[in-house]
Amino acid sequence: IITMDQVVKRFGEATVLDHLDFQVAKGEKVTIIGPSGSGKSTVLRILMTLETINEGMIYVGGQPLWHEIQNGQPVPAGEAHLRAMRKQMGMVFQQFNLFPHMTVLRNITESPIHVLGLSKDKATRRARKYLELVGMTEHAEKFPSQLSGGQQQRVAIARALAMHPSIMLFDEPTSALDPELVGEVLTVIKRLSEEHDLTMLLVTHEMEFARQFSDRVCFFDKGVIVEQGPPEEIFTEPKVERTREFLKNVV
Ligand code: ATP
Ligand code: MG
Repeated sequence: IITMDQVVKRFGEATVLDHLDFQVAKGEKVTIIGPSGSGKSTVLRILMTLETINEGMIYVGGQPLWHEIQNGQPVPAGEAHLRAMRKQMGMVFQQFNLFPHMTVLRNITESPIHVLGLSKDKATRRARKYLELVGMTEHAEKFPSQLSGGQQQRVAIARALAMHPSIMLFDEPTSALDPELVGEVLTVIKRLSEEHDLTMLLVTHEMEFARQFSDRVCFFDKGVIVEQGPPEEIFTEPKVERTREFLKNVV
């Protein structure tokens, strides 16, 4: 469902993604691990169209992401194409990024109403369904400031789901949380992965969780995938020295 083909991303002089090849199959649960600055967030931000690319091609659901095909040739994508592509993806950030002046319910109904054109009724029903899924039903009328970090993050997950994306992107969803709140968010993500046919891409430092959650773990370093495979393989018998070094220092 995602193909990145020789993708290069530079920030000024720095090459952050260096001819990256990366594929994700439909329904696959993939975890990205790697040192700080290795390009993990950049991959998700590019998919979410929050950052452009310098070279290469990306396909999401068979369609080019940063390009559209005209007369058989890829040309830079227009805003309408980007908007359509963006709708296939939902993203959850480290800092929950809820709208502080809106209630929980309105945080969730806002985009379905204004982007998807749902009626207020339909959006509200949909929001309540996802609030229930993340265990936040009784907090629907509160404002984000009245919630714990773990609760805010669960609302952020419900908000992304309410757009009915086929791909969910999580960028260190628990690393801004107090340790005792990490579990409740991971439980929600785990449940999603088991009960929904979503394609999920997760950047995390929670190695034990990655082991349970992932079909595949990708170790990033310096803008390329150094090693990837099933979690049992990556965590117990990594083949590459750099992967071994990294894992030794995080667990
Ligand atoms: P971390 O684990 O710390 O979140 P990461 O693997 O997510 O790291 P990225 O955020 O993808 O790393 O950043 C990769 C590199 O790109 C870093 O060196 C970072 O400084 C640089 N970078 C990221 N965003 C920008 C930007 N908007 N402008 C300039 N440089 C950037
Ligand atoms: Mg990051």
